[in-house]
Amino acid sequence: ARSLGTHDPEPIRNPKVLYDKLFINNEWVDSVSGKTFPTVNPATGEILAHVSLAEAADVDKAVSAAQDAFRLGSSWRSMDPSQRGLILHRLGDLMESHKALLASLDTLDSGKTYSSALGDVDYAIRTYRYFAGWADKHHGQTIPMDGDLVTFTWHEPVGVCAQIIPWNFPIVMQAWKLAPALALGNVCVLKPAEETPLSALWVASLLVQAGLPPGALSVLPGMGEGAGAALARHPGVDKVAFTGSTEVGRLIQAAAAGAADGPIKRLTLELGGKSPVVVMDDADLDTAVAECHEAVFFNQGQVCSAGSRTYVHEKVYDEFVERSVAMANARRLGDPFHPDTQQGPQVNEAQFSRVSSFVRSALAEGAALACGGPEGHPAGPLYARPTVLTGLPDGARACRDEAFGPVQSLFRFGRLDEALARADASPHGLAAGVFTAGLGAALRAAGALRAGTVWVNCYNADAPQTPFGGFRASGVGRELGELGLAAYAEAKTVTVRLPVAAA
Ligand code: NAD
Repeated sequence: ARSLGTHDPEPIRNPKVLYDKLFINNEWVDSVSGKTFPTVNPATGEILAHVSLAEAADVDKAVSAAQDAFRLGSSWRSMDPSQRGLILHRLGDLMESHKALLASLDTLDSGKTYSSALGDVDYAIRTYRYFAGWADKHHGQTIPMDGDLVTFTWHEPVGVCAQIIPWNFPIVMQAWKLAPALALGNVCVLKPAEETPLSALWVASLLVQAGLPPGALSVLPGMGEGAGAALARHPGVDKVAFTGSTEVGRLIQAAAAGAADGPIKRLTLELGGKSPVVVMDDADLDTAVAECHEAVFFNQGQVCSAGSRTYVHEKVYDEFVERSVAMANARRLGDPFHPDTQQGPQVNEAQFSRVSSFVRSALAEGAALACGGPEGHPAGPLYARPTVLTGLPDGARACRDEAFGPVQSLFRFGRLDEALARADASPHGLAAGVFTAGLGAALRAAGALRAGTVWVNCYNADAPQTPFGGFRASGVGRELGELGLAAYAEAKTVTVRLPVAAA
């Protein structure tokens, strides 16, 4: 979590929405159907803009623009890698100078607090700069071959990348997708979530200023079943990258598989989680309580890696419950732009109802309410009460399903191995945490938990340098870090027979 600092720019509460059309070939165009959809501020219910609605016909246009931009000899295909890096560095600089605007757009579109939206813009800038650096450094290998053969590998772009992203971290999710793909010379068609299209479109306008040639990126706001599904199944797409729910991830996997005689697509999936955190009795309790609280309440609980199952050693359990309840009760809900606000509204009515029904079903399955509850909060219609549950039985649905809201479940355990077994009994495997003073216990937990990331004495401490992704139902592949480049590169092995030596 991040609080507003003295050097942070003031928010722009009523920005003029300049970009509300589809972005194809570096131009702003209406959708083929001429249809639009409203995007709404969840804190007030106010319509922010009517945005052009992409559908299958628009996807066809964007994919063919991308194929054109990727053709041999095109300006993008023949651009020097260092120049691609420079474009992303320039984008980082332009985003710096538009920080207040971009953060304000995400606050308005998603309901997240302005202070955390500023943190998101910083994270996105760092991601573009990190991958800008990789553009001319993703080396191949030279390989010692027997005989008179010389072998080396080149890393080449995959081609047309369809990228579908969620609404919980709009500008960060866009950066995670675009930065590695463009750094390595791919062409992208990106579909932002229908809840949060505005910052994605603005970043596209900045990429034009930074020097991106036409066709290398299209941004298509639209619905999942419309533009999203058309993009995933399009035969002109070489790779599909998706972040969102496990449920939709399965649909994407099927759509990307396509027709029996269709192309074989590359696929990366960053899906949901139900991440466990284990707190040992030797942990620093002040740190553990505060980090476990933030692990699940940050961003209205709408975080894929939210630490939503907290296993606490019986020796410290009662005190942990008491302190966690005090922190949840002290959480400040209100206007997302107000610097003191810690929690804004859920992103829309569907997500608010999802949280309420999650809490109701947990209570019906035997959980006890330590604080909060399924009813709305006086701060506004879409504000969910910070809720702490205890006594949830291990087999309950609420132990498996994501609440995707501000709901912490606390469990009591006696032995570390018991906690690890219970923590790992999940179809997901995105992230996990452990709090302990013991190195042995920390490493035992890190080894035992089948999760893409394990945090020790910290939580949600990820960065552009650290690979991120899931085991099991949490996804396929990794984003960020050097490993994140693999998703956007094809390795080509070149073997050359040396000519017979001249006399
Ligand atoms: P969602 O799966 O409903 O939507 C995500 C995106 O997919 C949106 O752009 C949506 O329009 C699109 N979509 C929906 N149906 C589609 C379809 N049939 N075909 C193609 N595209 C479709 O998810 P959400 O509710 O917007 O986001 C929350 C989920 O995302 C949570 O489960 C969360 O855990 C997950 N998430 C995961 C990560 C990660 O890195 N693993 C990060 C953020 C969010």
